[in-house]
Order: sequence, then structure tokens, then C-alpha cells
Amino acid sequence: MTNLFRFLPSVDAALNWIDKKEIFAGVPRTLLREQINIFFDVCREEIINGIIDDEKKLNLEALAPRMICHLKASTRPHFRRVLNATGVVLHTNLGRSLLSESASRAVYEACSRYSNLEFDLSKGERGSRYSHVEKILCDITGAESALVVNNNAAAVMIVLDTLASGKEVVVSRGQLVEIGGSFRIPDVMEKSGAVLHEVGATNRTHLYDYQRAVNENTALLMKVHTSNFRVIGFTKEVSGGELRKLGLEYGLPVYEDLGSGNLTNFDGLGLLREPTVQEIIAEGVDIVSFSGDKVLGGPQAGIIVGRKEYLDRIKKNPMNRALRIDKMTLAALEATLRLYLDPRAAEKHIPTLRMIKETPASLQERAKDLLIILKKVLGDSVELSTLDGVSRVGGGAFPEQDLSTTLVCVKPLNSIHVDDLRDRLLSVDSPLVGRIEDGLFCLDPRTLAECEYKVVANSIKQALRL
Ligand SMILES: *Cc1c(COP(=O)(O)O)cnc(C)c1O
Repeated sequence: MTNLFRFLPSVDAALNWIDKKEIFAGVPRTLLREQINIFFDVCREEIINGIIDDEKKLNLEALAPRMICHLKASTRPHFRRVLNATGVVLHTNLGRSLLSESASRAVYEACSRYSNLEFDLSKGERGSRYSHVEKILCDITGAESALVVNNNAAAVMIVLDTLASGKEVVVSRGQLVEIGGSFRIPDVMEKSGAVLHEVGATNRTHLYDYQRAVNENTALLMKVHTSNFRVIGFTKEVSGGELRKLGLEYGLPVYEDLGSGNLTNFDGLGLLREPTVQEIIAEGVDIVSFSGDKVLGGPQAGIIVGRKEYLDRIKKNPMNRALRIDKMTLAALEATLRLYLDPRAAEKHIPTLRMIKETPASLQERAKDLLIILKKVLGDSVELSTLDGVSRVGGGAFPEQDLSTTLVCVKPLNSIHVDDLRDRLLSVDSPLVGRIEDGLFCLDPRTLAECEYKVVANSIKQALRL
């Protein structure tokens, strides 16, 4: 056994062999060396355990397939592409919105070249990074002023810190939401130094509840969109317009954390009507904040729009510097917003809008196309079928509401359990996330692009070890 160790190739010999094959061009050499060492350690273990019992199994040609496999898996970037077959359009774990082509190009341009990020070309002097999106945000939403920060959680933080630190904020008990990732309105409120004054009941809050809560220490009336859940039945919510009237009476601003922030409506899809940002501003709400990467379909960002007097104060908050967005985000956001200037272009080119609005007929067609390609690649190793199913918008938008779709279902035949298929699909070259329904592995074409069908088929093939 100990003699066998002598036949293990040297790390340099392995590196040379790899160089000749040109398979790992571009992978740092130190990384390869480290991983070859780790792979040879595994081989030594196998010699000790008697798994490798013949010197012939130790030459490079014999070790190569496993070594390449190990190196491929251990030297690729950690952050990589995943196939989303869940049908959840705004999948927070999978990166929420995909950017449009023009936004992706703008990001590339912004990060590979110098730009006028903070340079006013008309005056030849220092400018503001926010100027690139402020006007277009005002044009689209009808607001007087706008500011963009890192994400909507940051927006809530800076609005509360600026307008209500050390003061009371009146919020309905029905809107003290937890969004996920430890973002809870009462906790954020506490961190910002504002004092939460909760009013009403979980299901019903009236205007007089807010009115009774107002005292000399009140700074803000706040509404929070109940993004990821729905209260149904005997309910009552006070509108932004009503709160605005109360606010005017007492000299208090009204702030609404809209969460998703639709810039377009989603009528005709069977979803409950959600007001657009434009409508909330038109109602008279003084400050509105929402995410850039939820239904808006842009990059991660927190957008704050509203009356100039409040926005000016928020812009001057030193916290703004800590929450500021980078040039890539700005480039992507401006490009995305430009598409909204023509609603048809927005629907056509913003992937999030396109996916949410795709018709059941089109999805049925695409399910058939996907099935044909799976059949071609996987042959008789699986049983394939289609099934009427539902997709979700996700990202806390339109909670518990279904979009009709057609699922492509895969049933493995070679004694692999469907749970194993799902698990194995996470560790193949192009990881794929789907869902199991009725004991079948289901793929929703809504979140898959046509150009991905072949990759999907190959991932399943790899997972089935065909
Ligand atoms: C999603 C959401 C947030 C957080 O937004 P991020 O952009 O993810 O930080 C805050 N408030 C509401 C109501 C939300 O739906």
C-alpha cells in the first residue's frame, strides 16, 4: 500500500498536463495548485482505505476525469448563473429582477469607461450623481423631487431618521409588517430613533384612530404596504388621500412605504388592483418609497419621491452618503426608467414586466417547445407531461395571487426519486431550481428564456447521470 504513494503524480506534472489540454485557461494558477493538492489528498486517503489498489489507477490519464471534475467544481466562481424554473418572477433568492438589454449595456458602459457620474458637463464642474435619474423619476411619477438610495429598506430608514427621529410616527396595527431578512417596521423604526405610535386593530383602522393619536410630539403619518400577506374579510384601511387631509390639518407629512411600487398597472391578469406610484402621488401623499428591483424591473435600489421640501431635507441627511447607490446601479436605473417613457416599450423590453404579463396561450406554446427539447435530449429516461399550474409574481408583490401557466413535468424512470433529482439539479454545471408537485418535478416556462431550454435539458441529463 505505502508503495503506491510513489506512483501518485507530482502537482507540477498535473499542472503541466492541464496546461497542454488548455481546459482551465483563465483560472488562477495558485487556485489550481491548491485544488490539485486537495484532490491528491483524497487519492492518498483512497490508497490507505484500499479503494485505489493498483498503480495503473494512479497515472494522470487514469486520474484525469475525476481530477477535472474536482477542479471544475472547485475553481469556478462562487457567484454564478442559475436556471429559474420556479415560475416565481421576483425570486429574491435568485436575484429578483433581470435587467433589460439596454440596462445591461448601460451597466457595462458605466463600469468599463469613465463617465459624468458626478460631473456637470454643461458647467464643467462637480455635479450630482442623482441628477441622472431625478428628472425622469419626477416625469414618470408626477412628484416634485426624487432621491435614490441603496434599497427600499435604506429608504425607509433615511425617511424616518430625517423626518421623525426622536418623534412619534403613527402607523396602523395592520401594517406593522415583517418583509423578511429581519426587516420589520417596528424594529426599523426603533433603529431610526423614531417612536412607533400604533393605532387601530389588525384588520381595521379608521381615520379617527390616526386623528386621536396625533399629539405635540407627532412628526409623521405613515402607511406601509402589506406586501407579502393579505388581510381579507372585515377590513378597513385609510387611503393616502384621507391621511393627506388629516396631515394638512395638523401640519404633518404623510409617508407611504409602497414596497413594490408599480409604475404601470397590471390590469387584465386577474390580479387585485394595486395603485401605481403615480396614483399615490396624485392622491397627495407627501413622500413615497419603493424598490427598484421588484415589479419596476430595474436594479436593486430604494427610490424616494415626493414633495421638494421633505426630499431636500432627506438629501441633506449625512446618512445619505452611507446609503448612496453606485454608478452601475444608476446606469441600469436610468436605462430602465427610460423604457417607461413609452409603456409599450416597457412591457416589451423589461423582463419582469414581460414575464408577469405573458399570456397563458403563449406559456402553453412555450411549454410544448420545452417538452420537445427535453424529449430529444432525455429520451426514454424520463416520463414527460404538461400540467395546468400557477406562477407567482413574488418579491412580496401581489401576495397569494396566481397567474395561470402550463408546467412541464418530469418523472425520472431509472429508480431515481424526484427529491433526489431536485437536489442533484443544484450541483450540476448549470444549476436549476424548480418545484415538485404531485410527485413530479415541474418546470415553469414563465421564468425560462427560449435560449435556456437546451441548457435545462442538459442539466437534467447531467443530474440523471445519463
Ligand atoms: C420589499 C419591501 C421593503 C424592502 O425593500 P428592499 O428594496 O428589498 O430593501 C420595504 N418595505 C416594503 C413594504 C416592502 O415590500
